[in-house]
Amino acid sequence: MGLPKKMESWRAALKFINRCPICGSNYSSDRARLFAKNDTANLIHLTCSKCSSYFIAMVLFVGRGLSSVGMVTDLSFEDISRLHKTMPFTINDMIGGYETIHHKFFLHSLIIKD
Ligand SMILES: [Zn+2]
Repeated sequence: MGLPKKMESWRAALKFINRCPICGSNYSSDRARLFAKNDTANLIHLTCSKCSSYFIAMVLFVGRGLSSVGMVTDLSFEDISRLHKTMPFTINDMIGGYETIHHKFFLHSLIIKD
């Protein structure tokens, strides 16, 4: 069962993501690149050839159909290729960051010394 073999290609799913949400121009499939995949999902990075904005789409193959969700991003393909493999922030990371920027000497720590 499932989709016909040629429909399983993530490039075939691009026809459902055809317009840039920023400028409205059509996406060119040669500006779309796959950066991660598993058995059911493909993560695709698109660059608009007109306005150079970036878009990330997750295309899911669910049963006999396709589903997709996406968002505008400021991450380039190189950024997303590197960052999607990193570990997510933990609660302790958040607490540590909060404590660091609220420390009374935080601004002093930013001063560059000669
Ligand atoms: Zn655009």
